Amino acid sequence: MRICIFVDMEGISGVSGSDFVRTDGRLYGSARKYYTQELNVCAQACFKAGADAVLARDGHGSGNHMLWDELDARVELIQGATGPVRLPEISECDALILLGYHAMAGTAGALLEHTYSSASIQNMWLNGRPVGEVGIDAAVAGDYGVPTILVTGDDYVCREAQDWIPGVVTCEVKKGLGCQAARLLSRPEAHRRLEAATIDAIQRRGQIPPLRVPHPVTLRTEVMERCAIPVGHLGVRILDGRTYEKTAATVEEAFFV
Ligand SMILES: [Zn+2]
Repeated sequence: MRICIFVDMEGISGVSGSDFVRTDGRLYGSARKYYTQELNVCAQACFKAGADAVLARDGHGSGNHMLWDELDARVELIQGATGPVRLPEISECDALILLGYHAMAGTAGALLEHTYSSASIQNMWLNGRPVGEVGIDAAVAGDYGVPTILVTGDDYVCREAQDWIPGVVTCEVKKGLGCQAARLLSRPEAHRRLEAATIDAIQRRGQIPPLRVPHPVTLRTEVMERCAIPVGHLGVRILDGRTYEKTAATVEEAFFV
């Protein structure tokens, strides 16, 4: 059994604002440490529950934030920019874990809510339904027949995950108190919950179906700024000066941000 863990930074325990997740932030060094520790806890729980391999994806921003030399020796890591491919190597995996995720753009009360870019994207819709990174990534994996078994982060992203992915296990490691504040568990308690949730998710993976959205797939994006829509791209329909959409055979092909 091969588990893919896609790691983002906003939903990692101990992270409570932009100062942690920006590379020029005052607390970025601490966040990298928490990010790496949390991947280790999750991966070790995967192995404990019977996984043969763990492939992790450093998924925050540029994809180069993990402290590679502190990773559990059994973890393989994908780092760097992979262009429009959201989940490289996902077809090799039996199940997907979304670790350290955050709620979709516009979720009031959620910590560091955004969808792909807090600077440029106002909203996204998948087949007409408001969607964030959890829904899109689970649907990309679903097109490959891979179930998303666990989502972790604040209470808001856990609820969003349950809305999108029937049967998914969630692990709340903090509560959002607005965009730049959170009520945190201690590190030992957050890690204890994460380990238990990971083992539970792996044991239940057979009962959690892949997220299958109706095809063809339409992904619509509303940008924040004028003059920022991608005019002239093949297959991209412009709806108005702030909004465009793309329809394609799969979620991955429809993804255009
Ligand atoms: Zn991120």
